[in-house]
Amino acid sequence: MKKFWIILIILLALCGMFYAFTRIYDTDVYKNSEEFREFADNSLAEEQFFTPDEYTQTEYEYDKKLSFAIRKDQYSGEDISKLRDNRIKDIVKSFIAKQAVEGDDRTRACIIDSTVRDWDNEAQSLAICVKTYVEQDREMVLEDTDIKTFLISLQTGEEIKPIQAFNINYRAKASKFAADYFTKTYSPEVLNEDWEKYIADNDENFNKFMMTDSAVIFYFDEGTVADESEGILSMTIPRRNMLQAIRPLVIDRYIDPDKPMIAITYDDGPGGASEARILDCLEKHGSVATFFYMGNRMEGFGETARRAAQMGCEIGNHSWSHPQLSLLSKKKIKEQLEKTNDAIYEVTGTVPDVCRPPYGDYSDKVVKTIGSEDMYAVLWTIDTLDWKTRNPKKIFKSVKNTKNLDGKIILMHSIYDETAKASEKIIPWLEEQGYQTVTISELIKYKTGKTPQEGKLYRSFP
Ligand code: ZN
Repeated sequence: MKKFWIILIILLALCGMFYAFTRIYDTDVYKNSEEFREFADNSLAEEQFFTPDEYTQTEYEYDKKLSFAIRKDQYSGEDISKLRDNRIKDIVKSFIAKQAVEGDDRTRACIIDSTVRDWDNEAQSLAICVKTYVEQDREMVLEDTDIKTFLISLQTGEEIKPIQAFNINYRAKASKFAADYFTKTYSPEVLNEDWEKYIADNDENFNKFMMTDSAVIFYFDEGTVADESEGILSMTIPRRNMLQAIRPLVIDRYIDPDKPMIAITYDDGPGGASEARILDCLEKHGSVATFFYMGNRMEGFGETARRAAQMGCEIGNHSWSHPQLSLLSKKKIKEQLEKTNDAIYEVTGTVPDVCRPPYGDYSDKVVKTIGSEDMYAVLWTIDTLDWKTRNPKKIFKSVKNTKNLDGKIILMHSIYDETAKASEKIIPWLEEQGYQTVTISELIKYKTGKTPQEGKLYRSFP
């Protein structure tokens, strides 16, 4: 009898050892493609940021150590499909490379979800969410979540950058909305201590977004605004709230940073018939310009001003009544600028962030005061002297005779018929010569690599 007990104990001990042994060496969390599928489906189902529809398809690639699941919604459009496939390929490649660097033997999984949305008939938005898992104590643990977004023009098939899709004030608008949205939607315990940093109005934030027919959806990486356990957060702003921040037609334009670009600027408007003629010409050639408007003309010539803004032209501040700002007190300068911004807002729905001081006259005080009104100052590099010569041929020549126009800023005035006539020569000629016409903020962005800084004075590039 004693012998029996001893044998039983030995057997139990062996069983225990065998069990422990398998637990140590059998580290696979899922043992076949069926089990991986189940795991991947659960992971995909957890997601909140995309609303998958019935037209989604998932590919599973099971491997003992490194498996992938890729979900796509079925979307028409060759360009967007190509872009999506290429980006997903990159993600898969870099994940495989990363695993090789890690050098351990743990099981890993990469779950990729992607969705496409239409933005009118102009562009398509693509978002790709990547979740990576690693095995820990025989469980798959979420290691990282990342979201990438892309906007592609249906007309050119090229990617559209945020600065091309939005006016420069979009971050300010989104930031304001976000402050309100997150305090209302999340309890203070869920929000990180420094969450406001991630919704501040700066270059780092609001770069991940999707445009749909009804809204702009912004995404925030995990662990930024809220606790990591909340994952990626999204915020939907109804399109009507963002209208003033979205460029109307520029969305069709694609700016190639490697090709020469030039900014045409018109001062002293809005300018009635002559300006309307300039706008006709810009529109015909798919070009844009920057208009520096005087506040006291906004009421009388609101129609052309509104049209310029609608066309995706940039609107700047050129003071209320064209004084020499350097001769004024700080208080008077502020008054000139603020009244003008109010008038421009009233008419166009946008508030300028760029100012050209009348006569190009400035001082430290002037530039600083412009900065205190959340604007930067800009001068010019080619003075056509259109106001002086009032001669279309001479105006055209002043542009044509300048050797390299890349990065240059042309100064004209939209209140003269002769300038309109000259523009009808200059704009097509620039197009023929291969110059891209861009707005002032775009020129600064592409030539300095940074968005324009408030309180700075810009005049030439490089
Ligand atoms: Zn002027």
